[in-house]
Amino acid sequence: MLKLKRNAIRCKKCGDILESKSRNDFVSCSCGQCFNDGGLSYMRRGFRTERPEDSYEDLSEYEEVPDEFDLDDDFPAPKVFSSLIDPKD
Ligand SMILES: [Zn+2]
Repeated sequence: MLKLKRNAIRCKKCGDILESKSRNDFVSCSCGQCFNDGGLSYMRRGFRTERPEDSYEDLSEYEEVPDEFDLDDDFPAPKVFSSLIDPKD
């Protein structure tokens, strides 16, 4: 199975690299188009364009671990949660 090793995205507008290093490490870019959160526990991304791939480029890295690898709560299967940032924010 795949384990998340690096949770990072690059904003396509301002070029900032947003790397979330821990579960509560919320980072947003200087132009405000996207954010990243969740560290290695989950990937929570925010974006302002219609499709997330228009807002940011995914730079996340994974590593293959044996299926019997004992996953603790900090390392569930990588999952992406994307949310559109409300323009009023
Ligand atoms: Zn940006």
